[in-house]
Amino acid sequence: MSNTCNDCGCSQGELHETFCTKERCPFCLGQLVSCGCISKVLSLSPAEQQALDEYIDDEKEPLLSVNERWVKALNQKGRVAF
Ligand SMILES: [Zn+2]
Ligand SMILES: [Zn+2]
Repeated sequence: MSNTCNDCGCSQGELHETFCTKERCPFCLGQLVSCGCISKVLSLSPAEQQALDEYIDDEKEPLLSVNERWVKALNQKGRVAF
């Protein structure tokens, strides 16, 4: 058994790196990177949703600002530590 996340390497009780695949969603407690909460919580527009589904390039708009809004929403809700 390991006390560090085997994806991002954070220690027990610490927050994961942003968008670590092991992070749990504080809204549904599912896997954060694959749950659909981002669409509901941020009320994404069809264009933003499409960009997200295709995961075009998160270094560029519109995903860049979508991710920023998502991180803000997660922090407000309270992110789930490892
Ligand atoms: Zn992690
Ligand atoms: Zn969720």
